[in-house]
Amino acid sequence: MKEFSFGIPQSVIVGKGTIEKVKDLAFKIDKKHALIITGPNLAKMGIASKVEGFLKEASVEVDIFSEIEANPSVTTVDKATKAFLESGADFIVALGGGSPLDVAKAVAVVAKYGGKITDYEGAHKVPGKVIPMIAIPTTAGTGSEVTAFSVITDHERDYKLTVFSYELIPEYAILDSELIMTAPASVAAACGIDAFIHAEESYISRDASPFTEAMSEKAMELIGRSIRGYVACRENEQAAEDMLVGSLFAGIAFSWARLGNVHAMSHPVSAYFDVPHGVANGILLPTIVEYNALADKGKYLKIYNYISKIPEYEDTFEPGMLVEKIKELNAEIGIPNSLSAVGVKEQYIEAMAEDAMKSGNIFANPRSSKISDIIELYHKAM
Ligand SMILES: [Zn+2]
Repeated sequence: MKEFSFGIPQSVIVGKGTIEKVKDLAFKIDKKHALIITGPNLAKMGIASKVEGFLKEASVEVDIFSEIEANPSVTTVDKATKAFLESGADFIVALGGGSPLDVAKAVAVVAKYGGKITDYEGAHKVPGKVIPMIAIPTTAGTGSEVTAFSVITDHERDYKLTVFSYELIPEYAILDSELIMTAPASVAAACGIDAFIHAEESYISRDASPFTEAMSEKAMELIGRSIRGYVACRENEQAAEDMLVGSLFAGIAFSWARLGNVHAMSHPVSAYFDVPHGVANGILLPTIVEYNALADKGKYLKIYNYISKIPEYEDTFEPGMLVEKIKELNAEIGIPNSLSAVGVKEQYIEAMAEDAMKSGNIFANPRSSKISDIIELYHKAM
């Protein structure tokens, strides 16, 4: 067995209606002034003010920053950091999907150490502890509430930069299934397939360990049995809870095992064509699963059985069956079947491939890839 290490350096609360526990966590953090970082819809829906109310019960002063877009930019991080510093807040409550959570992590770094988020791009550039954060995800999910990553779009370079540091893992997370019950079906599908891909890519990653494999497998089991039901009806409580816990475990897994070619290749697609992260991943998944089949050591059969309603056995299973099963799942939940269907243009493929090669995920992918392989894979997914 290869040497491995892991840690879950945070406290996580899971359960319906647990959002009110934010006031207990504010006590534990022992800070007096929160900036809630969230998206415009959650502010409109009154969820941000609900959190504000709970915090005020704990005598915490509250400001709200809600100008976060999908695929958030370096400029948005600058604006949110300015809002944090001007408000005099001493901790952050990150409320929303991946975008507000990624911005909150970036603010927690820049507000403490200065400069711009681009100064911390790459692995382990954050000098030390960041501003304390409580993360409350409202989608299932990016797993951002437990990951060590912040992904921000730099429009000057049409590039999605990644900041990777274990200092970015929020101190506390609250996973309240009620909060994900209002998501539109399209968001439920995109975020759900993303969470599944976090589990799948970390499971077959070269950096997988017995610990991350356990997390990935449980995540695939929960997501596999509930993704269809959750997309069909978000108020399905059992399905919503499965998706939330599944995305949590997948997030823990990939924080330690990293991901693979799907994520390396999807970031440029989102950066150039503003395709939602989960949609870009879902489209690329069958192509990459087919490519990686050569490196499979028996894990494909397990993955197949997590997403299939009818189990398959070793003597009859072929890797191509997993590719077909994923295409079928994508069709069932409404993920488009090609990159051209979401507006990707052939002439950008070389530039996207160059950016994909800069991702650390390329080196975790079970089958090694040169730039010519990535170009071919983009063409296939068109
Ligand atoms: Zn993802």
